[in-house]
Amino acid sequence: MAQSIVILGGGFAGVAVARGLEKMLKLGEATVTLISRENFSLFTPMLPEVSSGGLEARHIVTPVRAELRRTTFVLGDVTNINLESRQIDIVHPISEKQSIYRFDQLVLALGSVTTTFNVPGVAEYSLPMKTLEDAEILRNRVIAALELAAVAANPDERRGLLSFVVVGGGFTGVETAGELVDFFRSINRFYPTIPQREILITLVEGGKSLLPDLSAKMGAYSQKNLSKRGVNVILGDQVAAIDAQGLSLKSGRRIDSSTVIWSAGMRPSPIVEALPVAQTKHGAIVTAEDMSVIGHTGVWALGDSASIPTGESGKTYPPTAQHALREGPVIAKNIVATLRGQATKPFKYDSMGMMASLGARRGVALLPGDIVVTGFLAWMIWRTYYLSRLPGLDRKVRVAFDWFIGLLFSRDIAELRVFTQHTRERAVSDAGMSTKTKLPVVEPTQSSAP
Ligand SMILES: Cc1cc2nc3c(=O)[nH]c(=O)nc-3n(C[C@H](O)[C@H](O)[C@H](O)COP(=O)(O)OP(=O)(O)OC[C@H]3O[C@@H](n4cnc5c(N)ncnc54)[C@H](O)[C@@H]3O)c2cc1C
Repeated sequence: MAQSIVILGGGFAGVAVARGLEKMLKLGEATVTLISRENFSLFTPMLPEVSSGGLEARHIVTPVRAELRRTTFVLGDVTNINLESRQIDIVHPISEKQSIYRFDQLVLALGSVTTTFNVPGVAEYSLPMKTLEDAEILRNRVIAALELAAVAANPDERRGLLSFVVVGGGFTGVETAGELVDFFRSINRFYPTIPQREILITLVEGGKSLLPDLSAKMGAYSQKNLSKRGVNVILGDQVAAIDAQGLSLKSGRRIDSSTVIWSAGMRPSPIVEALPVAQTKHGAIVTAEDMSVIGHTGVWALGDSASIPTGESGKTYPPTAQHALREGPVIAKNIVATLRGQATKPFKYDSMGMMASLGARRGVALLPGDIVVTGFLAWMIWRTYYLSRLPGLDRKVRVAFDWFIGLLFSRDIAELRVFTQHTRERAVSDAGMSTKTKLPVVEPTQSSAP
């Protein structure tokens, strides 16, 4: 009987495994099912540009069904994984119907979530930058702050509304701060009562330099570039607490702000953390070098959920899209080898480097051979490389057009309140419809597979 391979997660890692399996499996050898809570995969390197309106949200996501041919895609929120009975519980995100999937081989690729480090107020008063929805919410929030500031009579309230704080000086934080500067420059003329000098962007990093995981030169360049463009960069200080009016730093410093963006860290999916498997102190699954989960035959882990040893004592591969994309095909090969009774191979990969776009046509890049490039050339390399990595020709063309249009026109300041319950309720009541109108529930043809 054909073996059942179930992949959990439709991000970089999960899709890469499914593509690898599609290439290698013979007809009838195994069934492949990919379960994910969204029907698209998100190209995170371009997410900060969505938050500033530089790119259209739909242009950086690719429907999973369009990426895969022979894999069965199931839209589902994984709620529990039982490694003993080898079954997965899922809830359909639209119909809320529950179902169970059984597996012979399981791939854990559920990625990561934002971590608050239990800092008081982070969960309640800050905005994360991890999902497409986060980026859209941030964009709308920034525009809403400008609209409110334009009519605020109280000077303290206005100051708080025009103060934007990004916490975390890693890739996401640095890119988000750079994008905010570009956004405000681009739309300034639409808000004649708000002079540019009144808008304050602060970037807070706990380490001694920006981009602390990279070369000091890259951090120093990023700091100089952002400071020159008006960003107040605070290094070596950490957030003690966030409240509705702003944040307090451990040094005692206080920053008033109605918009605090939290990009200070990630941790593996809570579903993965709940598994009875060996984990790092951050909750990532400790795997063997071939990415199999130790002590659980036929279970594999990769991407942000996994801690994969490099073979050098104590070292593991970093949780990046670059690595997840390379790990996927190797797990696929190892699963196929296991099904055919052959030996598995360890994952081996030398990083191609790292890059960050700072906005204003500037960037930093660490290339193979530890070559550091900064400025316009690094930004060009960033754009060319990531455009080439974006899945699907149609997406590449759409993003290239967005960038071209960005050269000609200001960014869009339409505030799309699509995520608020208030907007929906008002729209349906204006139309004389019931707010209780729900989507029809389609009964699935099977509640468990295969
Ligand atoms: C803003 C930002 C910028 C980044 N920039 C870069 C960059 O420039 N270069 C780089 O190499 N890396 C970058 N990264 C890191 C990169 O995005 C991650 O390392 C990569 O996404 C990891 O891939 P993954 O497949 O493990 O996880 P993900 O891509 O996060 O995929 C996880 C998938 O699992 C699904 N999922 C999660 N929980 C459940 C559940 N309970 N049930 C069902 N489905 C679920 C999610 O919907 C998602 O589809 C960036 C990350 C962010 C947030």
